[in-house]
Amino acid sequence: APEAAEKPGLLGRMFGRREAQKVVRRTVDDDMLESLEDLMITSDMGVDTAMRVTANISESHYGKKLSVDEIKAVLVSEVTRIMEPVAVPMPLYSKRPQVVLIVGVNGAGKTTTIGKLASQFTAAGKKVVIAAGDTFRAAAVEQLQVWGDRAGVPVLTAPEGSDPASLAFDAMTQAEADGADLLMIDTAGRLQNRSDLMEELAKIVRVIKKKDESAPHNTLLVLDATTGQNALSQVGTFQDLADVSGLVMTKLDGTAKGGVLVALADKFALPIHAIGVGEQIDDLAPFDPEEFSRALIG
Ligand code: GDP
Repeated sequence: APEAAEKPGLLGRMFGRREAQKVVRRTVDDDMLESLEDLMITSDMGVDTAMRVTANISESHYGKKLSVDEIKAVLVSEVTRIMEPVAVPMPLYSKRPQVVLIVGVNGAGKTTTIGKLASQFTAAGKKVVIAAGDTFRAAAVEQLQVWGDRAGVPVLTAPEGSDPASLAFDAMTQAEADGADLLMIDTAGRLQNRSDLMEELAKIVRVIKKKDESAPHNTLLVLDATTGQNALSQVGTFQDLADVSGLVMTKLDGTAKGGVLVALADKFALPIHAIGVGEQIDDLAPFDPEEFSRALIG
């Protein structure tokens, strides 16, 4: 989006806009390194990561005179290097149905992401079934049905307030009977009552395992890029609640650059399976480390 492209990244904020960047050369000294480190920290990349990247740049470039473009290239390559190992698409197994649990706080983009994934997997020839596991929010169930219709995928529901674990169990039976390749199970995301949610997720997992010891095969945590640093505590929380196997970060189409993904990569090393880049069904992209780094640094 042109509007997002106009938003300066980390270096844009340090050196001003493009014209100035072309001509000026700056010495890589303590002042510059400190400014870079500050910018990385305020971009949510995390203190440890910022310090390490700064140390690397110091080691390779201290005392050199660099143009802003050259500084940018150095930073982009450092950040790309950190992000490359976590840029991993969601693994697909021969297991049928492959059970994918979707977790995350309300509003993060779970419903939307499930719809987008259902559409992508369907296009790839997979038979997909969705289970509306947030049985306590009627609106969430309706929304998921809308997305199911869009993706042309059945959405299994249960009466409002009924046990999500029973729905998950029934959904597995149904998915198996239908010969589905993938069963995506939505879950509740009300963190206000953590012990309830923990209980609920644990029960879903327990019941799923009665059908298939190896399930759930993936547990995707959906994170909202606009919540910045908050993502760090959310990953910690959901790792306690469920065995998170991968991340999807939504809303990277706006002004949020998702710098926290760098801190997350450093701290948790969880694979980033995809990113949300809009509200439409096709707005789910693979995570591209270099493109991400350029947008963050630029
Ligand atoms: P849930 O409560 O976790 O299921 O969240 P929803 O899927 O209902 O999404 C919450 C809001 O975020 C909705 O208005 C979505 O349209 C919006 N949303 C989700 N993903 C994206 C994205 O990648 N980009 C943008 N711009 N909006 C998104």
